[in-house]
Amino acid sequence: MTGDTLILNADGMPVSVLPVSSLLWQDAIKSVWLKSVRVLAHYDDWTVHSPRIEMKVPSVVITEKYVRTTRAVRFTVSNIFLRDEYRCQYCSKTFPESQLTLDHVKPRSFGGRSSWENLTTACSPCNNKRGNDYRINPMIKPYKPSYYEMVDRRRKFPLEVPHESWVEYLMWPEENIKVKPRRHRKLIV
Ligand SMILES: [Zn+2]
Repeated sequence: MTGDTLILNADGMPVSVLPVSSLLWQDAIKSVWLKSVRVLAHYDDWTVHSPRIEMKVPSVVITEKYVRTTRAVRFTVSNIFLRDEYRCQYCSKTFPESQLTLDHVKPRSFGGRSSWENLTTACSPCNNKRGNDYRINPMIKPYKPSYYEMVDRRRKFPLEVPHESWVEYLMWPEENIKVKPRRHRKLIV
């Protein structure tokens, strides 16, 4: 689940794309007050109140100082599926994430590790069919992807954002980005 406010680095690029860097509205407002970020866009239909102030919730903020970020790809199940583009590496069909499994190319019972280089994406039927038969090889030999490769890959798939102001900063292919507004209430803080 992404936050309410997209956060850009001082250079105008998102702090991170994997996942898209965002803040919860409370943290966005706090950061504005602390002057660590500037507001670039806000929600017209969402204000928060305190006894003394009323403020529109920011939809996009930019950091005042450049934030150094790591460009490491986290070793997660989702990232392995993304590396393989949600495609079963045995039957080559694509599936929703919920229907995919991880397969150890060299089976665990033969000492195969849980690593980028030994885990691949498989649908359940293929995973079961393959069992421990490691003469059946995946289409692509598993490998550790680079951050930029993963960002390119992520952009091939749909992204839902909570406000239209995010679109121009994310440089997502138009057909894959969808604005889905959330319900907002007037809030007293
Ligand atoms: Zn399959």
